Amino acid sequence: MKRVQEIEHEITEISQRLQKLKLELEQIRKTCAHDFVENQYTQTCVKCNLTESLYY
Ligand SMILES: [Zn+2]
Repeated sequence: MKRVQEIEHEITEISQRLQKLKLELEQIRKTCAHDFVENQYTQTCVKCNLTESLYY
């Protein structure tokens, strides 16, 4: 079925795009000078949106 091949092709493309975006986000967060805002249980960077738990 042609549609099946289209879908599989699209899934592959999106997966690659997703992987690229994750790497880009990781790079941004690695180099970010974090500016955290704390709430009761977590702190979130207002620049890169990284969230960390305050309790381990
Ligand atoms: Zn940050």
